[in-house]
Amino acid sequence: MTKRSVYIAYTGGTIGMKKTSQGFAPEAGYLTRELKQLAELNRDDMPNYEIHEYDNLIDSSNITPQDWFKIADDIRLNYHRFDGFVILHGTDTMAYTSSALSFMLEELDKPVIVTGSQIPFGELRSDGRDNLITSVILAAEHTIPEVCLYFHDRLYRGNRAQKIDASNFHAFGSPNFPPLAKVGTTIELNANLLISATERPLKVQPITPPPIAVVSIFPGMSAQMLENILSTPIQGLILQTFGMGNAPSNDRDFLMVLEQAAARGVIIVNISQCYRGRVDMQGYQTGNRLQACGVISGFDMTTEAALTKLYYLFSLGLDSDAIKIQMQQNLRGELTP
Ligand code: ASP
Repeated sequence: MTKRSVYIAYTGGTIGMKKTSQGFAPEAGYLTRELKQLAELNRDDMPNYEIHEYDNLIDSSNITPQDWFKIADDIRLNYHRFDGFVILHGTDTMAYTSSALSFMLEELDKPVIVTGSQIPFGELRSDGRDNLITSVILAAEHTIPEVCLYFHDRLYRGNRAQKIDASNFHAFGSPNFPPLAKVGTTIELNANLLISATERPLKVQPITPPPIAVVSIFPGMSAQMLENILSTPIQGLILQTFGMGNAPSNDRDFLMVLEQAAARGVIIVNISQCYRGRVDMQGYQTGNRLQACGVISGFDMTTEAALTKLYYLFSLGLDSDAIKIQMQQNLRGELTP
């Protein structure tokens, strides 16, 4: 039997960072050198691997949609040579990247696992070794035709994950969808949760970000403030609302601003501020008013998934009605309608 093989791309992030006088920053060549010396990665029972370190290593707070395209296109170019892909990335925006890739990589039928670490690889007690080794094993040995995020001991669907802790090893959660795998002394893959593989060839859809805003409402927020945000050329708004998708219904100006924007074709997506649960605009009058203004439901999507999905749908060149329809449909397992 031929050995399985995994492509490892290092984009930047803590896992390959070193201490500088201004704090941790990625250092070219450093992680590749460390990995080549890592006995576990080079064992006979591990898959073959190739490491590609990007020219411009970044702290993931600097990530842009152009970087997402670079990663997606890198996967496309190497797609036929490898059984799976591990993307080493900073944790800060990892959930945005795993969400974006899940939409951009159309007809994916191989595992793409995004991971990183909270402590740099070369430091004592780094979580990078385990995250990397397990991601490589998952990418090589399991048929997972999805973009996933692996961290600590859980494999999550990429567009369901969120960073939940700035300093703990258990840094990610998947509030509204169970983990695809739990990793302890054995790897328990929940195969019945996986998206079905496709027979069609992989396609990469680039993303050009349209003018979109993410706004979290709060008590005392003025209609004027919302109007300023919604002034042209804005085309989309992720509105983070209270509880099940509620907003102040006594403020007529506030509702009117939303109604006028929706009538102009601005796509306004209702996402709950709560960590867990879903938007239900039938639940309360306050939510119902939003629906009457033309606000659409984001159901149980994370903000990361809603934002990158909206980017993706705009980039497909769809009109506003088609975007509204697809925003509320399940495209890559990102929402439960
Ligand atoms: N600031 C780092 C980054 O996102 C944090 C990390 O990797 O954990 O690149």
